[in-house]
Amino acid sequence: MSFTYDDCYKIKELHDLENLLDQYPDFKITLFPVGAALLSIEEKDNGIWKRFVEKGHEIGYHTFDHINLGVMSPLGVLEDFDKWSGALTQVLGNPYPTHFVRPPYDIISTPMNILCVERGLVSTLFSIGGGGQVDIVMNAIRKGKNGDIVQMHVRNTPESQDIDTSVQAFAYLKSIGIGAATLSHLYNDLLLEQNQSAGCDLETGESLTRICIE
Ligand SMILES: [Zn+2]
Repeated sequence: MSFTYDDCYKIKELHDLENLLDQYPDFKITLFPVGAALLSIEEKDNGIWKRFVEKGHEIGYHTFDHINLGVMSPLGVLEDFDKWSGALTQVLGNPYPTHFVRPPYDIISTPMNILCVERGLVSTLFSIGGGGQVDIVMNAIRKGKNGDIVQMHVRNTPESQDIDTSVQAFAYLKSIGIGAATLSHLYNDLLLEQNQSAGCDLETGESLTRICIE
């Protein structure tokens, strides 16, 4: 499963998450910080983003200031991505190959699609979503399967809930033999699966990676 953490406004929760992940060295997550948080969190803990990346976690684009990409011009979206990307380069000290965009408010839009084409990104939502009350999210995770994408938040309200859920969820997943992987890992597995699948699914249009002729 892929655990994704949007917004990333709060340093304490990020530290709690980092400490939790240190207890599960095989579990990797994807963070979707806004650009403003990349800079403000870095000011409070120099090197925090670099540590996450060096430990094998992934970072994706969630806009610079949590804007709805759907109301922006395509040029405005490209500029916002480049501004966000610049902030990420600044805190990591190196350019970073961003692969995914999680649009704020989960709004898929034409300007966002243009961004994906122009900057080679893949948009991603989730199959277990939103975070929130611990017992409700845990119920959803218990029904989850390999390949599910879980959306969590690191933001001001309510206090630490999604980190508390992560504590329970990681222990539960480990006990049933399911791991946590980055979105890139999950996505590459999906492409590999399509590429290696036997035969053709005629009339499904899924012939990009295979020769499908009747
Ligand atoms: Zn968000």
